Amino acid sequence: MGLQIDIQAMLANHAALAAQAPGARAAAVVKADAYGLGADKVAPALYAAGVRDFFVALAREGRAIRPLLPDDARINVLSGHMEGEDLTGLTPVLNSPAQFFRDRAMRPGQPFAIQLDTGMNRLGMEAPEWAALRDEALAAAPAFIMSHLACADEPDHPANAAQLAAFRAMTDGCNVPRSLAATGGILLGPDYHFDLVRPGVGLYGGMPFANARPVVNLSLRVIQTRDVKAGEIVGYGATWHAGRDSRIATVDAGYADGILRALSSSGAMLFAGQTACPIVGRVSMDLITVDVTDLRTVPDRLDLICPRQPIDRLADLAGTIGYEILTALGLRYQRTYL
Ligand SMILES: *Cc1c(COP(=O)(O)O)cnc(C)c1O
Repeated sequence: MGLQIDIQAMLANHAALAAQAPGARAAAVVKADAYGLGADKVAPALYAAGVRDFFVALAREGRAIRPLLPDDARINVLSGHMEGEDLTGLTPVLNSPAQFFRDRAMRPGQPFAIQLDTGMNRLGMEAPEWAALRDEALAAAPAFIMSHLACADEPDHPANAAQLAAFRAMTDGCNVPRSLAATGGILLGPDYHFDLVRPGVGLYGGMPFANARPVVNLSLRVIQTRDVKAGEIVGYGATWHAGRDSRIATVDAGYADGILRALSSSGAMLFAGQTACPIVGRVSMDLITVDVTDLRTVPDRLDLICPRQPIDRLADLAGTIGYEILTALGLRYQRTYL
């Protein structure tokens, strides 16, 4: 099994997104093990390319990459200061008054940031909470103040302008660096960029960054092929019958590796990155069966993710989004970094 990760393409995507927001520093979001690609490789490569601001979801993700990055890398923890968490060397993004007071009591003088809720109603202080502690928070000099857009991948959605206005109303005059845009927000234009942008999925080749270079290639090995007669069944539940005499290839990964079971009898794998061969029958835990009847040769590998079938195409086939395809990529693959 081979999961190839093109680090140069990932860095090119970061540079391209950073170039769209020339007035802002471009951070990198490396939560969920850099969207499944391996934060231990991705984060140091970004650092070497000049990135100094990183975002993770959990403190333990931050602790995992802290030893891999020099001291001037700032690692921001989006879940903030959870009780009992060791935040040494990390910057919690404080989401509530409770987190703010806990953090200031336990980590006086240590760096922190603030998240405000501008309408997504997921994380962050709401306007009245912020109004009540704003002076005290600003006196403690937060590293930045941020919020997050709910609909940035839909440029015409009215929530974007509403959240932007709410963010301005809460932060104008604060004299602290501000951050609102993830990948989608960068593409919304300069009004959304402020001082720090936080691209994630676009680095890894996913939508809404339509011009991203592909970063991931997933090629699976054929374990066995067999000829089945018209009318025979393939796979669990006998959900697929051969409509003609067929040749079926069985490849060496399944839903335990993040190849969603929803791709059963709907997705395709590509021979030599070109010729689509339908996935037939159910995706099982460790195996997928593919109809290779129309190939002139017996393949020894088939590609699931490649330029002809990028992660967002696979996501469409599985009824999900590229983010889920990436973060589901399992730990059994041999990851190769280009
Ligand atoms: C995940 C996340 C990001 C990155 O979002 P992408 O859409 O992957 O670019 C940025 N900011 C916050 C708060 C996030 O949760």
